[in-house]
Amino acid sequence: MILALVEQEDGRLADGAAGVLAVARVLSGARNAPVAAVAVGDLGDLPAQLGGHGVGRLYLLRHPRLDGGSPQPRGDALAQLVDAVGADAVLAADTVAGTEVLARAAARAGLPLATHCTALRPGPPWALTRERGGGSLLEDAELDAPVALCTVTPGAGAGASPAPARCDVAVSEFVPDLDDADRCTRVVDRQRRASGVGLASAPVVVSGGRGVGSAEGYAALEELAALLGGAVGCSRVATNNGWRPHSDQVGLTGTRISPDLYVACGISGATQHWVGCMNARTILAINTDPEAPMVTRATYAVIGDVHEVLPAVLAELRARAGAREPSPVPRPRSAAPPLLEERRAGLLPVGDQAGEERR
Ligand code: FAD
Repeated sequence: MILALVEQEDGRLADGAAGVLAVARVLSGARNAPVAAVAVGDLGDLPAQLGGHGVGRLYLLRHPRLDGGSPQPRGDALAQLVDAVGADAVLAADTVAGTEVLARAAARAGLPLATHCTALRPGPPWALTRERGGGSLLEDAELDAPVALCTVTPGAGAGASPAPARCDVAVSEFVPDLDDADRCTRVVDRQRRASGVGLASAPVVVSGGRGVGSAEGYAALEELAALLGGAVGCSRVATNNGWRPHSDQVGLTGTRISPDLYVACGISGATQHWVGCMNARTILAINTDPEAPMVTRATYAVIGDVHEVLPAVLAELRARAGAREPSPVPRPRSAAPPLLEERRAGLLPVGDQAGEERR
C-alpha cells in the first residue's frame, strides 16, 4: 500500500497534496499496490476531493492529542499506521509540516527519510532523484529501506497520468496509542492573512530587500502587488530588520515560489534568496547595481533607485488602469492579469530586454 499524507487548509486539500497524490499513483501502478490517503482533522468533504485524485481509501487519524497541529504525535500516529497496514511507501509534501511529521515517523519506525524528492522508482533499493543545495542541483540516490518515507517537491507529480475516473472513498478511522510525552510542542495561536492572495500561489510577487530601506517603503510594493493581483514578498534582510513578517520571506529559509512574474526591488540575489524565486517564469529586477546577481540573471532589469522607479511605474499603471479600482479578488494563476499583458506590451520600463522568458 502507498500512503499519501495530505494536508488540508479549512477543509480544502493544501496546494502540495495534488503532487503527492500524483506521485503516489505512479508508484501504485509500478508496484500494483493501492493508494490510501492519510489525514488529520475534520473530514469535511475531503473524501469527495480525494476521490477526484484516484484515491480509494482515506485513513483518518483520530486522537485528542492530535489536535493543535503538533508534529510529534502525528509522526507517532503515522508510524503506527505504517506498521498496522503494512505500507510499502509513505509520501508527504515537501513542506515544513510534511517534513516534520515524516521525520518523526521515520525516527519512531527506525526507517530512513528522503526529503526533496522529484522522482521515485520502486525498490528496495528505491531509486530517487532529489533536489540539493536549495534546488540548485539534482542528485540521483538509492534508498535501501523496506518502507520508503519520502517528501516530494511541488513539481514531482507533473509527468503523472491524470487521475482515473472519480472513485468512491472508503474512510477508516485509525486511533493511535499516544500519551502526553509525545506532545513536545503545541500551537498556541494562528494568524490569518487579513485578505489578498497567498505568497506560495500568487501569480505575481512584488518583493523587496535592503534597497527598500524601511517598513514604510513597502507601501509602494503593496500598491503594485494589488494592481497586479499579486502578493508582497521580501528578502531575509527585510525580515531581520523587522520590516516584514517571516511569512513574506522568499528563499531557502522562507517560501519557494514559482509565479508568472517576480518583481525584485532592491534585492541583490544572494544564492539563498535566488533558490526561492528561480522558478519564476519572468523576473524583473529593479536595482541601482547593474552587476547585482539578481540583475544579471533577471529576464528584465531596470537600473535605478527603487524609490524613483516604483512611483513612476505606479503612476503609469494607474493612468493605464483609468478609473479601474485594484481588485482584491485573487485570480487563478493561469489567467494573466490585464495589467501584466500591458506590461508585456511594453508598459514597464525595461533596462535589459536581452533575456528570454524563463520557461
Ligand atoms: P543585500 O544583499 O544587501 O542587497 C541589497 C540590494 O539592493 C543590492 O543589490 C543593492 O544594489 C540594492 N539597492 C540598494 N539601495 C537601492 C535602491 N535605493 N534602489 C534599488 N536598489 C537598491 N536570504 C533571503 O532572502 N531568503 C532566505 O531564505 C535566506 N536564507 C538564508 C539562509 C542562510 C543559512 C543564510 C546564511 C543566509 C540566508 N539568507 C536568505 C540571506 C542571504 O544570504 C542574503 O544576505 C540576503 O538575501 C540579502 O538580502 P538583500 O538582497 O535584501 O540585501
